[in-house]
Amino acid sequence: MKINILTLFPNMFDGMINESIIKKALNNNLVEINIINIRDYAKGKHKVTDDYPFGGGPGMVLKPEPLFEALAEMKDSKVILTSPQGEMFNQSIAKKLLKEKEITIIAGHYEGLDERVVDTFVDMEISIGDYVLTGGELPAMVISDAIIRLIPNVLNNSKSFEEDSFYNGLLDHPHYTRPAEYKELKVPAVLLSGNHEKIRKWRLKEALKRTLERRPELIKERELSKEEKKTIEEILNER
Ligand code: SAM
Repeated sequence: MKINILTLFPNMFDGMINESIIKKALNNNLVEINIINIRDYAKGKHKVTDDYPFGGGPGMVLKPEPLFEALAEMKDSKVILTSPQGEMFNQSIAKKLLKEKEITIIAGHYEGLDERVVDTFVDMEISIGDYVLTGGELPAMVISDAIIRLIPNVLNNSKSFEEDSFYNGLLDHPHYTRPAEYKELKVPAVLLSGNHEKIRKWRLKEALKRTLERRPELIKERELSKEEKKTIEEILNER
């Protein structure tokens, strides 16, 4: 998969591409990331990328010309604009985007970009939450990271994302590691039992419990299995 990111601040991506799992994915050619400086497409001595808004008002607007030039080179790409006005990002959008061969994410800045760029090139606008950030760089990283970890072989064990929160519509169960007892705090005994079926049931129950408590709407949206229905009854009776 190829991910192009159009930004005015390419250095902000150094941390993302030079550390940890994404660095390994890049080194193993599991993903290609092109950080493209919008300024490289600006004309003139000063390579101006923004200008005052028509009609007045505060802030600056990203000029259309550099973005038109840059996006004209990405014809076979799904173009995503990061925007607080976009569709709210979630795991199912990440899964859908994983099917694309190439995506291009535009990181906006200032008041945003000239709307003619949006009208001409943008296939989808994505928001990462109901708040306003200074730029689209962090959202572009959030979106890329969520997709990249779903690419086969990026994580050592694909089970690890399949069991994550939201992947199958529930929140994840709690996790514990060694030592089995720390400052008199004990790990639930079932996890030390070696009984895989009991552990599976415990994890399912904990995942359902958390989802019921923290995100009940996920349970409403879910087609529950017989076992899940029975486990939920059990949880409610214990309350
Ligand atoms: N004037 C815009 C508005 O009110 O909708 C906000 C512009 S914001 C200061 C600058 C850029 O940051 C946006 O163009 C977008 O790329 C990015 N951005 C800010 N908040 C975001 C969010 N919650 N989700 C996605 N992108 C965001």
